[in-house]
Amino acid sequence: MIDIVLATRNAHKVMEVQRILDAICDDLNVLDLSAWPDAPEVVEDAPTFAGNALLKARAIAAHTGLPCMADDSGICVDALNGMPGIFSARWSGAHGRDSQNLQLLLDQLTDVPDSRRGAQFVCAVALATPAGDERVVEGVVDGEVVREPRGVDGFGYDPIFRPFGFDRTTAELTAEEKDAISHRGQALRAFVPVVMDLLAPAQSCGGNCQCRAAADSAEV
Ligand code: IMP
Repeated sequence: MIDIVLATRNAHKVMEVQRILDAICDDLNVLDLSAWPDAPEVVEDAPTFAGNALLKARAIAAHTGLPCMADDSGICVDALNGMPGIFSARWSGAHGRDSQNLQLLLDQLTDVPDSRRGAQFVCAVALATPAGDERVVEGVVDGEVVREPRGVDGFGYDPIFRPFGFDRTTAELTAEEKDAISHRGQALRAFVPVVMDLLAPAQSCGGNCQCRAAADSAEV
């Protein structure tokens, strides 16, 4: 079993990451940051999801002395030239105000016709070790921004994002449905063999992981 620290205090993300990894890998023991109350708040000032994920993973690996993973994610809206993107968590100002962020985005898209409401959820997952090894993978899910929030599950922009292939928003999908298609699900399925290759090459892709091809196409 390999201990790996998840560099986030976002309880929704911890839950989703643990749920997705539990379903695909028996070899990783994901520790959340609660054991490190003094862990630094990382300034996410890189211009990309991958860059911000690496900043977080690097800082927490240095603080904890353990391999660390970090997720940076957001929604990229075609009609807004990819925004909110890396600013998704603080689109309306202060960090982490999901309902205000979602409402501001809906207001900005009021006059955008149904045919031009395309968007993607993007997730970069980075690994950093105290020895200085680093890896990043990405997952993307395509869909569109609907006009009214629907559904109560998930978090963030889930109530206004309809993934292509579904007539429901990601807040109306079951956890299994969301994980199967989500940006985070795709990134984590690619992440597992990358971690195993680096940290435990002898048991690479052990457990019930079957995702080497996904890792090759997702590495950034
Ligand atoms: P960060 O990765 O902590 O910088 O924040 C990402 C932000 O993007 C979150 O606060 C959410 O607003 C949004 N986001 C990321 N992933 C999801 C998702 O799976 N569903 C809904 N919103 C998400």
